[in-house]
Amino acid sequence: MNDVIVAISTSLGKGAISIVRLSGEGCIEIVNKYFKGRDLTKVNSHTINYGHMIYNNEIIDEVLVSVMKAPRTYTTQDVVEINCHGGIACTNKILEVMLLGGARLARPGEFTERAYLNGRIDLLKAEAVIDIINSKTEMSRKVSIGQLNGNLSEVIRNFRQDLVSLLANIEVNIDYPEYEDAEVVTINTIREKINYMNDKLSLIVKKSLDKKIIKEGINVSIIGKPNVGKSSILNKIIGENKAIVTDIAGTTRDVVEGTLNLNGVYLKLLDTAGVHEASDKVEEIGINKSLNLIKEADLILLVLDNNSELTDEDKRLLDLTKNKNRIIIVNKIDLSKKLDLNEENVIYISALNKTGLEDLRKKIVEMFNLDSINTDMNMFVNADDIAKIKKCLKIINKIKENINSIEIDMIDIDLREINDILGSIIGESYDEEILDTVFKNFCLGK
Ligand code: GDP
Repeated sequence: MNDVIVAISTSLGKGAISIVRLSGEGCIEIVNKYFKGRDLTKVNSHTINYGHMIYNNEIIDEVLVSVMKAPRTYTTQDVVEINCHGGIACTNKILEVMLLGGARLARPGEFTERAYLNGRIDLLKAEAVIDIINSKTEMSRKVSIGQLNGNLSEVIRNFRQDLVSLLANIEVNIDYPEYEDAEVVTINTIREKINYMNDKLSLIVKKSLDKKIIKEGINVSIIGKPNVGKSSILNKIIGENKAIVTDIAGTTRDVVEGTLNLNGVYLKLLDTAGVHEASDKVEEIGINKSLNLIKEADLILLVLDNNSELTDEDKRLLDLTKNKNRIIIVNKIDLSKKLDLNEENVIYISALNKTGLEDLRKKIVEMFNLDSINTDMNMFVNADDIAKIKKCLKIINKIKENINSIEIDMIDIDLREINDILGSIIGESYDEEILDTVFKNFCLGK
């Protein structure tokens, strides 16, 4: 792991400056072979040195070379960064010369992998680095930076310490019943701890979901049988003519997308083809898409027509979405009421007259607590991590259900599993597979 790796750390293309980065034992010497300026092997650590890169007595570029000696560097190894002029030809030439000089091309994410393996950052921070690279908005960048600062890792670490001491206590109780100094672990002590864990992990999941919302927005699917006014609603909410509105049933054949910013949170609205018996091939494709979008949506707006009685298709949609996050919209309230509905979470609107749209906005804000979301929290982003915590919560629930009827050593096994799962989040009981997936998502040169 100490061999010298090299990569272009900035994105290739036209830019004023590019950076070629090297890390590993001997990287300063490799660069020095092709550098005309001060002797880089003799300069102080953390200095920037002006000079030229030379190959075959020809100047490749005028450069600034940063020399950073171990261990106060990103990878904790010696690191050199060559700041050269941007542009593909020049940057590639320097990379090529470094390879000739004995460096090896870094795999994607290998710099960060080294930082992790050398204990400079934990797995969560490594993931945060990927997030920062991929951040699209200022708000999501702030959230990733929060994670990089590591507060969450601390929370998990403390949590595991707690668990380990409980486990140790249980095990002493089991293995050395005669040992009197150990606190006797009763079902009550376990119940107390389990409840505490449950509250804390549930809160983490909730905050993670809030964070996911900030970072990725809310996927909203508008569904309903043809002609109920889905496209009109999408247009009125968004305020532009994104969707085609006609009075011929089945016009919105493909998925139409619009976006809306609600309290700083990004709503992705998808208007879907009517879910009904397909009359032709194109429509069939649209309908399948609708069914998929029901699955993927964070929120479903199910539109019904105030001016017509409930049809079988409406009933089917009500049924398909009943366990989902959903708001039922009764549209066309400007027309006479023929719909007879007995449901909760209903908003009455007229897309034509623009009445009731504010109620809809308020309802969404309320449903997702958009008023109280804040960006300060250092909680998970990553769906994998949320899934892991949910798995812990499942095990906790199982313990809670059976606590009066199972043996303490069975609880011990469950608690161990929770400890392992939490460990895998911060990389304290990692396996190769996790590492591979985390680091292969990196840009080259990170
Ligand atoms: P979609 O097939 O569900 O997307 O429905 P559209 O948005 O294309 O609307 C179908 C028809 O209903 C169009 O002629 C719209 O003008 C009409 N429409 C939509 N909303 C309302 C409403 O609130 N009141 C009335 N009276 N007509 C509406």
